[in-house]
Amino acid sequence: MQHRAFMVYSIANNAGKLRSLSKITRWKAAIMNDFCKGAIGIILGGRYPHCHSLVIDDQRRAIIDAASDREKLLSFHQERQVDILITSHAHEDHLMYNHLFDHAAFWVHEADAHGFTDIKTLIEPFEPTEEESAAWEDFITKECNYVPREPDRLLYDGDVLDFGDTQALVVHAPGHTPGHCCFHFPQERLLFLADMDLTRIGPYYGDPGSDLDLTICSLKRLAEFDVDVYLTSHGKGIYEGNPELIRRYLDIIRQRENRLLDFLCQGPKTLDEIVQQCIVYGKPVELGIYDLSISERHMMSKHLDRLVQREVVLLDENRYSLLR
Ligand SMILES: [Zn+2]
Ligand SMILES: [Zn+2]
Repeated sequence: MQHRAFMVYSIANNAGKLRSLSKITRWKAAIMNDFCKGAIGIILGGRYPHCHSLVIDDQRRAIIDAASDREKLLSFHQERQVDILITSHAHEDHLMYNHLFDHAAFWVHEADAHGFTDIKTLIEPFEPTEEESAAWEDFITKECNYVPREPDRLLYDGDVLDFGDTQALVVHAPGHTPGHCCFHFPQERLLFLADMDLTRIGPYYGDPGSDLDLTICSLKRLAEFDVDVYLTSHGKGIYEGNPELIRRYLDIIRQRENRLLDFLCQGPKTLDEIVQQCIVYGKPVELGIYDLSISERHMMSKHLDRLVQREVVLLDENRYSLLR
């Protein structure tokens, strides 16, 4: 059955009906091919190092994740000034155009705040070589337009964000990063999932500061929201609010762990040998300047730590082996 929200979406996509909607503002017309519901719109453009943006056109105008389409974001801002800039979490692909909104109040979750004030906190945990560190810093500064910025407000789980007629609830959903936030719009029956992005590759917990168990807890919690629409930061961006989609996305974690256990069935393996299996990404992948085998390594390590803790796997002289 087609949900109410998707009827709104299909109207927005119907150029023939566009003329009959009298109160369409210029920015809304500009994002008509994307998505609008009430005062909330999504601007698509979420291919790394970009992400989709949410815009809220209310008494207090806001952007969540200003890293999609520069012209559309500027068009929204030029019509009437953006008052609030929110970034869902401290990753370099969610802040590309933050510097265009330096007059706006900047809100981020407390646990990720340090990532916005000091670029080194984004890089150092990966323990890069001096050369890698310089290359990453260069990429994040020049390609992602990173500018250090002090938050004006720190967000916490359950905070009510009041934009006028539109309210959003902060849903702290850690795991991807410690301060990763989703946003629930109860009146519009909409949940913004940020980087719990429902893409086929599955959840990302490949930073040193990511947490596998927290990712699982967050996804289980997100699946409990009764909404019509999910919006995400990458991939398709707009989904029916069907919890089965989150459960399927969550299940990818179990599938990864099963593939890891299958590999260990062949005998004791080093972490290097496990990483070479490309259990998460399927093949060696480069993203921007990053070699994702680093993330593959972190994700596999987190699975292995968990399996060692549960006494399913034993670590002996750098080799992991099955205990049962
Ligand atoms: Zn992210
Ligand atoms: Zn992202």
